[in-house]
Amino acid sequence: MKKKQLPFDKELFTRSVLYNVKTLYRKTMEEATPQEIYQASAYAIKDAIIDHWMTTQKAAAEQDPKIVYYMSMEFLMGRAFGNNLINLQAYKAVKEALDELGIDVNVVEDQEPDPALGNGGLGRLAACFLDSLATLGYMAYGCGIRYKYGMFKQTIRDGYQVEVPDAWLENGNPFELRRSEYAKEVKFGGYVNVYTDDTGRTVFKQEGYQVVRAIPYDLPILGYGNGMVNTLRIWDAEPIQCFQLDSFDKGDYQKAVEQENLASQLCEVLYPNDNHIAGKELRLKQQYFFISASVQTALKRYLKDHDNIKKFYTKAVFQLNDTHPTVAVAELMRLLMDEYYLTWDEAWEVTVKTCCYTNHTIMSEALEKWPVDLFQRLLPRIYQIVDEINRRFVDQIMRQYTNSAGIDVQSKIRSMAILYDNQVKMAHLAIVGGHSVNGVAQLHTEILKKRELKDFYEMMPEKFNNKTNGITQRRFLLHANPLLADWITAKIGDGWITDLSQMDKLKSYADDKKAQDEFMEIKHKNKERLAKYILEHNNIEVDPNSIFDVQVKRLHEYKRQLLNILQVMYKYHDIKSHPNKDFYPKTYIFGAKAAAGYLTAKLTIKLINSVADVINKDASIGGKIKVVFIEDYRVSNAELIFAAADVSEQISTASKEASGTGNMKMMLNGAVTLGTMDGANVEIVNEVGEDNAFIFGLSSQEVMDYEKNGGYNPMDIYNSNPNVKAVLNMLVDGTFSKNKELFRPLYNCLLNTNNSSKADQYFILKDFEAYLEAQRRISEAYADKKRWARMALMNTACCGKFSSDRTIQEYVDEVWKLDKVELPVK
Ligand SMILES: *Cc1c(COP(=O)(O)O)cnc(C)c1O
Repeated sequence: MKKKQLPFDKELFTRSVLYNVKTLYRKTMEEATPQEIYQASAYAIKDAIIDHWMTTQKAAAEQDPKIVYYMSMEFLMGRAFGNNLINLQAYKAVKEALDELGIDVNVVEDQEPDPALGNGGLGRLAACFLDSLATLGYMAYGCGIRYKYGMFKQTIRDGYQVEVPDAWLENGNPFELRRSEYAKEVKFGGYVNVYTDDTGRTVFKQEGYQVVRAIPYDLPILGYGNGMVNTLRIWDAEPIQCFQLDSFDKGDYQKAVEQENLASQLCEVLYPNDNHIAGKELRLKQQYFFISASVQTALKRYLKDHDNIKKFYTKAVFQLNDTHPTVAVAELMRLLMDEYYLTWDEAWEVTVKTCCYTNHTIMSEALEKWPVDLFQRLLPRIYQIVDEINRRFVDQIMRQYTNSAGIDVQSKIRSMAILYDNQVKMAHLAIVGGHSVNGVAQLHTEILKKRELKDFYEMMPEKFNNKTNGITQRRFLLHANPLLADWITAKIGDGWITDLSQMDKLKSYADDKKAQDEFMEIKHKNKERLAKYILEHNNIEVDPNSIFDVQVKRLHEYKRQLLNILQVMYKYHDIKSHPNKDFYPKTYIFGAKAAAGYLTAKLTIKLINSVADVINKDASIGGKIKVVFIEDYRVSNAELIFAAADVSEQISTASKEASGTGNMKMMLNGAVTLGTMDGANVEIVNEVGEDNAFIFGLSSQEVMDYEKNGGYNPMDIYNSNPNVKAVLNMLVDGTFSKNKELFRPLYNCLLNTNNSSKADQYFILKDFEAYLEAQRRISEAYADKKRWARMALMNTACCGKFSSDRTIQEYVDEVWKLDKVELPVK
């Protein structure tokens, strides 16, 4: 059965582009710059989107579906233009239309800045979820912040990362709609005045506060081929009103200036930390700002067509993406009690039934805790509510565990209280204040239940569930890899675009010689495309016949880019000392941003670039190894990289990577995983089979056992393993830098002789030999063309589970209970 395509009027698009170029810029097509043509084309696309957007709103008004509010500090959207065309099923029509005007669609796409309102996996997950929600026909709002500066642009100077501000809004954003009619006020600071009103009700009134105006900007989120358009609503802050020069006394003037400063700073910049908290006051302000505005909006929307606020949870659910939006629990309580006059118990029931929390990490440095005095000063009424939630919860712990044999009540309180040691523990607030707590891969959820959140799991097991992450195949295959997408459609039809489980039909081609050859020919073309990008951006020539071994992700010690580059150093040494030994040529491709203040991470980038410099210039190794560091890794170049990967490096210290999603994107594109049994790698291996992946290293259990016993002693390995000794000495003997001391801090991280409990906390040396061995197995497998083609094809064929469509359907069935919106079929 051939599915209906969405209608798209190509001639109207062409006329619209010509008209826009004329009216926006007073130019003809010949005179217009590529940026102007992009803007003109984007506005033409937006016109087509608006009709669908209005149809969706109308259908929702009639059908009154339950809505999920996906609350997240980050949405790593990537470019909208190409993706919108894909989901409108208009990519080919627009490509033709532009061709006829003498314009290359790729050049137009390249004019769009990457909206980088996120750091890495957590923000990209939010973006994939929005794509899946719209595609599956569920009503959803993404709620976030319209940062003026998103994730910084990374430039590499002399091998070092230099951060450059990302002024992504410089040329405006053609896809956004400013909705000042939905502005909300958000209050900070001051104090709470408690009094009794005429009716005898206790009133809590915040006074002496500063207030900012939250202005929403709406971005359309298109479903694939179904005409559904959801909304990503991101908030900007403005001062409440320009103060009037003729009517102020000194106090008002001071306050007006402060309010204006607060408003101008609030949404300036995204904090560039991944899996690490900065603990800055401004960050807490950002959190409350977008949450208060979003919760107010959700309540308002509900009350437009419903009158019983006690049933709010039947039409709305809040999913909190990590603890960053957790203040939503207390803000919802505040509004229900102070604005809508519910009692505590009534408000609490609604709140718990509305809120759900996703945990993204177990690493202690990423667990959000705020000092009580800061929290209380900034959010006095919210603090009162958190204090009361805590008081009641501690009561409950005491009731439940006092007089229970063998249980120390005080230790239960210490591990679960929301307020403890003068800190507000946001994860605890999220768990207590909601009805669902989920991890993001099976292994991660098990670790939460057995260790990190054990006491909570024992007290409220019904709240815990797993939702293994996923990715959208529309962006990461249909858009990113058109050659492979077309090939797959020719083989199994196009059902995979909205049902990735159908990829398993490709399994019947795994041993088909012709299919294998075609598959690898497409991989080769994608490697040529990436090689061209690398030549243009890095001025390095790489051979598409070499193995493209890829590690692209945020730079973090637990992700172990250092393990990878140490292995490259070792291989280089090995080739130089055995020039006649057989070695399959490899191109090691890295891409990673480091948080601006994370020195070890930044030095690792310098090391990778220094190693690249020496190796790429050394003619004596005959080009057997090349090393490339791709500058400014982001969604747009990620799409090129994933399509070209042969080997997907997923080598985190077991137990540290909650899920990973880069692993899934590369699997989808036919790369073979080289990884540890961590995060979603476990499930990838489970789907594709052990023979079609390269697994090495300590298990999560082994890592956690070592940690319990204070680590291990890397000196034992250094002294007994000559490979390890040779490679570590290269860090400090000047092989890769004139200044021999430059990389000493990395050497010390691994070997720290003064403090062995702080040495090699990420088990790099412990896993080194196993990693070398896995790399050897890769080279051997790749040399056997047929074997490799089969493995690569099997990875694509077995990726069905890892669609974010599957993840979203699980959330809907097990947690959110949403209704599908029926749209008129055109
Ligand atoms: C998918 C993605 C990530 C997450 O990668 P991991 O390997 O899972 O850490 C980070 N950044 C970008 C641009 C991505 O597309």
